[in-house]
This record gives sequence, C-alpha cells and structure tokens, in this order.
Amino acid sequence: MKNQILTTLLLPLLPLMLQLLPMSSLQARPQPQDLPVAQAQSQAQARPQPQDLPVAQAQSQAQARPQPQDLPVAWEELTSADFKKATGLAQGVCIIPMGVIEKHAQHLPMGTDIYFARQIALTAARDDYAVVFPYYFAGQIFEARHQPGTISYSSRLLYNLLDETCREIARNGFNKIILVSGHGGNTHFLQYFCQTQLEEERDYVVFLFNPAEDRETARRIAELRKGTTGGHADEEETAIMRIIRPDLVHMDRVALETGRDQARLPLPNVYTGIWWYARYPNHYAGDATGSDPLIGHLVLDSSVAQLKEVIAMIKADTVALELQNRFFGH
Ligand SMILES: [Zn+2]
Repeated sequence: MKNQILTTLLLPLLPLMLQLLPMSSLQARPQPQDLPVAQAQSQAQARPQPQDLPVAQAQSQAQARPQPQDLPVAWEELTSADFKKATGLAQGVCIIPMGVIEKHAQHLPMGTDIYFARQIALTAARDDYAVVFPYYFAGQIFEARHQPGTISYSSRLLYNLLDETCREIARNGFNKIILVSGHGGNTHFLQYFCQTQLEEERDYVVFLFNPAEDRETARRIAELRKGTTGGHADEEETAIMRIIRPDLVHMDRVALETGRDQARLPLPNVYTGIWWYARYPNHYAGDATGSDPLIGHLVLDSSVAQLKEVIAMIKADTVALELQNRFFGH
C-alpha cells in the first residue's frame, strides 16, 4: 500500500518527469516560442554541439556530465546491481531535491523550483558522490491553488509521503538524508518535518540544506540586477532558468502580468496564510524584464559550492546520529 501511494502520485506526471529527467541544457535547445509536441520532443532529444553553448557553460557541463565508467548519481539512472555500490560510495548520504508544481509568473515553467533543486543537487553530488532521489514535487503550495496546473496535495499526504520516502531511503541503506528545497514555501514545513524526527526513534538523520548568505555573490548579483524588488519568478529565478532550461523561458511574456506587491492586507506583526495571495496573487514578485543570465551562473555556482561543503561535512559527521541515539536512551 505504501508503494501504491507513491505510484499514484508519480504516475500522473510521468510524462513531465521523463521530460525533466535529462536535466541538462546540453540536451535542450533554446526555443523562444512554443513548439508542437512532436517537434519539441525530437529537439529535446537532440543534443546540441558544444559550440552552441557559451564556453564557460560548455566546460562546466562537460565536467558535470558523468563518464561512462562512473556511477550515475541519480537514483533512477542506477541499475539495481550498481545501487549497492552507490550506497557505499555515497557513505550513507542521499539527497532529496524538492520543489513544487506552481505558477511562476507568465514566463517560467511550473517546475522551476524542481529544476533548480535538482540542478544543484546533481552537480554537487557528481563532485562529491551522493545519491540523488528521483523527482520530488510534493510540497506545500496551498497558496497557488487558484492558479491552473498547481499540484497541491493535502497536508497529511505531504507529511506522510516525505516520511515514508525517508524511511524507504533508509531501508535501502542510507542513514543521512539531506533535503534540498528549491521552493521558499516549503521552508516552514521542512523545518517542522526535521523537528518531528524526534517523535520516535529511527536509524537515520534528516538534514535540511540551509545555505548561508554568500556576501560576495550577493554583492555581484546586486551589481547585475536592474530592479530592487523580487522574490518569485524574479530576475534571479529567471536568470537561473535561462541557464538550466533556456528553452522553457518566455522572456516575451514577462510583462503580461504585474509582479508588484499589491499590499492588500496591512496587518503588521502577525502571520496568516493568506499573506502571499494578499501581496502577490499572480505568483510573480519582482520584475524579471532585465534578467541577466550571469546572475543565474552566480546563484548556481554559489549554491553548488555550499551544497558540496554540506555533503562533505555530513559524510564525515558521526555526532548527529550518535546524539539522536543517545536521546532515545542508547
Ligand atoms: Zn520558484
């Protein structure tokens, strides 16, 4: 039954997941306009030659692409026989990159957060081997239920699915699970999820990747930014997608709706669920008009560097599980 829940969740989006799986812009050609499905599919399969890409991008992607003799980092790309080797090589570390399916203004794909989380997880894990869990798009996104295409599961299912996913990961030989979220609306839920790990004893530890502010990167981004507002489908997020999947970014639609703060609920010093809708009903916060792809490189590089450090740190750590065991009287 447990597996049925997962299958039920994943099957409806299988075509999207399959399209997302390659994850590399090496496998996707930039296409400013929409394409007929068949044409888009054949182009998605066609791999551009290195000369199509900026030099720096081509180099970094060439380095990121695993060589045939290497073990893939993506769970779904491993054979069952190789999986055993992978758990050993990963020293118990499995990463779950998480996002949601929600509107990102008029110009970005609904899977934007997942693309970002997976991109940094796959890139970091290739440098310091860890296994990366398959596409995970079950997250807190009630605030986008009024927008077409949103996948918003119930709160109980969200919790149970993540809990059972962690248990399945642990049953398969990992004892250190790192959650990497590409979606700001998941933050409270994931912190709460980590807190509830102490509800009962378990033989694994769940960590939430919690990157610090990278001042130098923030300074350089500020220099490249055209505006001062942001937060969703903004200059940064748009720049990231222009690097990861430029074929899915529609810059000609950036101005179709406003990303200005509507400020419709002037109630300071309280938190209430309708706050986001009150401010940004279009699921657009900021103005992505002048989005500079260089910003995307900066954000991606900084995020990957921080995640690599976290992977190495978690691999070396023995204290968290030991303390967790001691907490439960061992
Ligand atoms: Zn987003």
